[in-house]
Amino acid sequence: MNHPNAGTALITGASSGIGAIYADRLARRGYDLILVARNRDRLNTLANRITNETRRVVEVLDADLGDQRSLAKVEAKLKEDASITLLVNNAGIGTHTPLLQSDVEQMTRMIDLNVTALTRLSYAALPGMVARGHGGIINISSIVSIAPEILNGVYGGSKAFVTAFSQSLHHELASQGIQVQAVLPGATATEFWEIGGLPLEHLDPAIVMTADQLVDSALTDYDRGELISIPSLHDIEQWRTYEASRRAMSAQLSSNTPAPRYSSH
Ligand code: NAP
Repeated sequence: MNHPNAGTALITGASSGIGAIYADRLARRGYDLILVARNRDRLNTLANRITNETRRVVEVLDADLGDQRSLAKVEAKLKEDASITLLVNNAGIGTHTPLLQSDVEQMTRMIDLNVTALTRLSYAALPGMVARGHGGIINISSIVSIAPEILNGVYGGSKAFVTAFSQSLHHELASQGIQVQAVLPGATATEFWEIGGLPLEHLDPAIVMTADQLVDSALTDYDRGELISIPSLHDIEQWRTYEASRRAMSAQLSSNTPAPRYSSH
């Protein structure tokens, strides 16, 4: 599919893995790009390749999104640049370490990146998009957002925030021209695993997807207007049943009386 005037996509964590594939695919779909991560050399190499191959305009913005001043620089860009039509909140870190064996300072840095930066960047981008009547936001969550027992619990909690925040954004902003998507990757072959302390070779290859497969599938869901994308889930009825049950329960969750199971007999 080709979108000749797609506008500009700002992608965080674009220097490697899933973010770098989004950069490639979105440029091929006609987006100019703003690539954000800490490693400027890697961003420049990717930007040069994409420009050569697609002739799109690619800007590099090196920033540590865990650092308030650097984060503010990216927020300012999102507020000021009206050509930005899509924000891909992809930068994130995780680990598999059990809760009490994890360093609380490292857990806090994870929340700073996975939750705080993602929230602040969304707040920077969305008011302008709403004023212009169109825009998109893709938040990279994880399957652990609905299965927090699988890896480190703070990581799972941070991704549960991303999924819930995305559902809420969709609820409030879809009618104002904003397309929201949360992507829930399963295990994906990137540097994420090595950085998180569990080399990829330790995983069963049967559960690991390539970043190309993940991004191409998630973009297919984006084209279909799917709010939640879980490319590794084969039986999508499982998600639909889960979601229908959650929505049915939503209407019953508040009451002026405790449930009958609390009355004395
Ligand atoms: P990755 O290859 O390690 O990519 C992470 C990206 O985030 C890199 O570009 C990194 O670039 C950037 N980043 C890390 N810390 C940053 C910081 N403080 N400031 C700015 N950028 C920072 O891993 P990935 O798998 O592609 O991860 C992308 C997203 O997918 C993450 O949100 C992750 O939680 C999610 N996810 C991954 C998997 C998986 O199995 N791989 C599964 C589910 C969800 P620099 O080092 O250059 O800053």
